Amino acid sequence: MNMIEFVDVDKIYPNGTRALHNVSFSVESGEFVFVIGESGAGKSTIVKLLTCEEHPSHGSVILGGQDVSELPDKYVPFLRRKIGMIFQDFRLISSRTVAENVAYAMEVTGASPKEIMRRVPLVLSVVGLKNKADVYPAQLSGGEGQRVGIARALVNNPRLILADEPTGNLDPVNGEAIMALLERINRNGTTIIACTHDQNLVNKMQKRVLQLEKGTVTRDEYCGNYYCVSTEKELSPIEDKTEFAQDFEADEAEAFAEFNESTKQTTDRTSLLDSLVQDSESRRTRYSSLNRTEEMKEILKKIDERVKQREAMRRQEEMLSYHEARDGSEENTIESGEFFE
Ligand code: ADP
Repeated sequence: MNMIEFVDVDKIYPNGTRALHNVSFSVESGEFVFVIGESGAGKSTIVKLLTCEEHPSHGSVILGGQDVSELPDKYVPFLRRKIGMIFQDFRLISSRTVAENVAYAMEVTGASPKEIMRRVPLVLSVVGLKNKADVYPAQLSGGEGQRVGIARALVNNPRLILADEPTGNLDPVNGEAIMALLERINRNGTTIIACTHDQNLVNKMQKRVLQLEKGTVTRDEYCGNYYCVSTEKELSPIEDKTEFAQDFEADEAEAFAEFNESTKQTTDRTSLLDSLVQDSESRRTRYSSLNRTEEMKEILKKIDERVKQREAMRRQEEMLSYHEARDGSEENTIESGEFFE
C-alpha cells in the first residue's frame, strides 16, 4: 500500500521561488528512502508539504490515502502528531530531562499517564539510553542528543518518520550509529524518509535514493548511491560503533520486542482522516489540563525512581563481580580497587 504519493506537485513560494516542479513519486509502507540533493534543491519543501507546514501550488500530496493539502486546518496538529520528526539540531527542551522530553511528546497527544509510564522507559531502551533518563540535554553528547530525538519521534508509534539531515551535526561514528538505529526502526515496520547530504552514509546504506535538482526529481533508484559509483565495490555494513553499542545490542532484541508488543496494543487500523477526527474528539474529553499536569509530575517522578533503582542494581552487580574477581586475583584487587574508592 502507498503511504505517500506526490502527484504532479509544484510549489511556488509567495516571493515567486519555484521550489518544486512537477514532482511525482510514491513511497510504500515500510520503505526507507533517502531524499538527496544540493542545498536549495527542494528537500525540506517535501518535508514541509507532508507535515502541512506548506501546501502545494499545484498537484496533490497524499498521505495514508488522504489528500493532506485539503485537510481542514483544525486537524493539522493531529496529523503532525502521527508523524515522527527528527531534526538536525535535535530540538530538545533544555529544562526537561531525557525522560521528560520523551514523555512530553506523549503528553501533548493526550496519552494516558499509564501509557506514558509504560512506553517512555521502553523507548529509551530501544535507543540505548535507559541509563540517561534523568539527565538534561546539556549533559548529553551529540549522538545521545539525537537518540533522544529519535526516542521522541518513535514514542507515539508513528507509521512515518521524517528525518531532516539527522546526522548533519554529528561526527562520522555517531552519524553511522544514528543511521544504524533508524535502519533497525525501519526493519520493525516504520516508514522512514531521510533528507541528507551525507554521501558516505547513503552509499553504505544502499537504500532507495530520490535525488532532487532545482526542484525536479532527477533520479529515483532502489539500492542507490549518492553518486553513481560502482556497486562492485565491497560495501561494509553500517554498524553502531559508539560506546553504547555493546550495551544496546545486548538489550536490543528484548527492547524492540517489548516496544513492539506495547505498540501492537495501541495501533489503530482506521483511515488517517478517521483517526485524526477521533484524536481531536477524544483529546477534549480525556483529561482536564490541570489533572494532567499533576499526573504528569507523578509519572515523571516514578520514571526517575525506576531508572535510579535500575542504576543502583547495576552498580551493585558491578561491585559483586568486582569482589568476585578480587577474590580470584590479589594483583587485580589493588589496581581496579582504586576505581571504587
Ligand atoms: P533544501 O532543503 O534542499 O535545501 P528547500 O526546500 O529548503 O531546499 O528550498 C528550495 C528552494 O525554495 C530554495 O530556493 C529556497 O531558497 C526556497 N525557499 C524555501 N523556503 C522558502 C520560503 N519560505 N519562502 C521563499 N522561498 C523559499
